Amino acid sequence: MGHETYEVLALRYAERPERMRQENFLEPVDAHDTPMPMDFFVWVIRNANRTVVVDTGFDHAEAARRDRRVIRLPSQALASVGVDAASVEDVVITHLHYDHAGTLGDFPRARFHVQESEMQFATGRWMLDDGERQAYSADHVAELVHRLFEKRVAFHREDGEIAPGVTVHRMSGHTMGMQSVRVPTRRGWVLLASDASHYYEHWVRRIPFAICWSRGDLLESYGKFESLADSEDHVVPGHDPLVRSLYPAAGGSLGGDVVRLDEAPSRTLREVFPER
Ligand SMILES: [Zn+2]
Repeated sequence: MGHETYEVLALRYAERPERMRQENFLEPVDAHDTPMPMDFFVWVIRNANRTVVVDTGFDHAEAARRDRRVIRLPSQALASVGVDAASVEDVVITHLHYDHAGTLGDFPRARFHVQESEMQFATGRWMLDDGERQAYSADHVAELVHRLFEKRVAFHREDGEIAPGVTVHRMSGHTMGMQSVRVPTRRGWVLLASDASHYYEHWVRRIPFAICWSRGDLLESYGKFESLADSEDHVVPGHDPLVRSLYPAAGGSLGGDVVRLDEAPSRTLREVFPER
């Protein structure tokens, strides 16, 4: 591991408590008609030298368009832990779905790190497909194109470095240019999988999420998790409420809505999923 380590926070900004289990899976699952609430997060990676934000969530206007609700804007969640969105210089966008690539205007100084293939995906022929297009917002994609013309977009092909030791890794499957973020922490290498695995269960049981551009690529991406993270207990999914119960609260004004991922989880995945 490199010389720098980082604190890593998951900050919840929205939720969908009414979500049902079958809505979250591509294939039929057990207990399909039971609730399976969904959380929405942005993440912070920081140490004394720098701060990197991962994903930018969505705002009230986008929430209204989709009949959703935000608990607080991502910038407000960031402010609660002392991060001023207006002064953040590096933002990783894990993919361009509406719940990860909105509110770019709240980050006027940032450079946005995306996979080149994700930009191609969101601006090309795949957006003629109703199933693939529905989770993208034309406004978000257009805004990123505007930032590109200001030379404020950094493109990555497969693997790339964002800050000393902090790297992105393409995890194609959910979308063409999905990427996860690996961070060196005091407890070892943590992988912010984001929507390469929405819930732990998608990856642990190898069942794709309902939106899946390429099943084969997704399964290959799952296989990469544990080579990048120190163990399966160092992998953090993108939307799982379990994250908030496994990791300790960071201690700010938002209570259990902000947790420390650089601390050990209270239970191992072996304990959570004993039978797999
Ligand atoms: Zn998502």
